Amino acid sequence: MDLIVVMKASATADDVQRVVDRVAELGLVPHPSKGEFRTIIGAIGEKSPETQDQLEQLPGVDEVMVITQPYKLASREFHEADTILDIKGIRVGGPHVNIIAGPCAIESREILFEVGRAVKDAGASILRGGAFKPRSSPYSFQGRGREGLELLKEAGAELEMPTITEVVDPRDVEVVYEYADMFQIGARNMQNFNLLLEVGKTDKPVFIKRGLAATISDLLMSAEYVLSQGNHRVIMCERGIRTFSEEVRFTLDISAVPVLQERSHLPVFIDPSHAAGKRDLVPALALAGIAAGAAGAIVEVHSCPDRALCDGPQAVLPGNFVTLMQQIRQVAEIVGHRVTLWGREETQPRRPVTGGWAT
Ligand code: PEP
Ligand code: MN
Repeated sequence: MDLIVVMKASATADDVQRVVDRVAELGLVPHPSKGEFRTIIGAIGEKSPETQDQLEQLPGVDEVMVITQPYKLASREFHEADTILDIKGIRVGGPHVNIIAGPCAIESREILFEVGRAVKDAGASILRGGAFKPRSSPYSFQGRGREGLELLKEAGAELEMPTITEVVDPRDVEVVYEYADMFQIGARNMQNFNLLLEVGKTDKPVFIKRGLAATISDLLMSAEYVLSQGNHRVIMCERGIRTFSEEVRFTLDISAVPVLQERSHLPVFIDPSHAAGKRDLVPALALAGIAAGAAGAIVEVHSCPDRALCDGPQAVLPGNFVTLMQQIRQVAEIVGHRVTLWGREETQPRRPVTGGWAT
């Protein structure tokens, strides 16, 4: 059984180190996590009957608890407060709502910069774009690889936006690390455990999408794979699952948002685009996710979707994305959350935006 050692607020760095050393000495793997008020140390592995008592006696220790969930470091038992990640100065999680937007794939410099500029102007805080595309058909456009990553990095720097892109192969983790600010693990790779272990060894945030037929516990276990390697910067994303419904591409499981948030301290996002499969349905799903308390949404936007090489039918037009951002802002306020606009937490626009903001 795994344990959590909760340190007193008054515990010193030496007290924490002593516990970490002792946990390792007892044959368990220590996972310290520094909270706002106190440090907690996960002790993962098979413990002997006396371990709990022994740890409880160390200076600075408040209490030692048993973690009952199969996912340990991802659980609320391990970390009661919402985890808030700092991604290049942008806070993600807790009451902060962030919108990730951009094209499905990086197709050309022109389109990436055009769409990037449009989503930035509308208030999105993180830029998306796929360079490695996991396609259902081996004959479909597979992405522009390293060349795409170079363009993404350039666009992120120019637009002052952190970037996210999918990594599909453990051998590409190094190159994606070099060019992007966040790793996206796609739905089809949610249980590619070697890939999860590889990104877990890095210090960049990992955005894990729920598999097409994965349960909520499966998703939590995938997050656990990353956390187990020492990378505590994980976001989970509900992107729709397979059901008997034929009207939409996938069925967005809205209940996954509160359920995941109840079980885990990690930020939860929703992806209305891949669930809907059609652009007209994207706003309703996006707003439902934000109303359910999601920490953000990842939305595909394209300036000429009829020419898109990937996922054109679900891409929202830039003008409609402006309207969607306004609505997201209103819905977020109702549930006590605040949208990060232009990478800053503010409620007033820094400059006028086409369409204007409802204030
Ligand atoms: C994507 O974000 O473009 C994508 C392929 O998503 P998913 O893995 O959820 O299908
Ligand atoms: Mn896509």
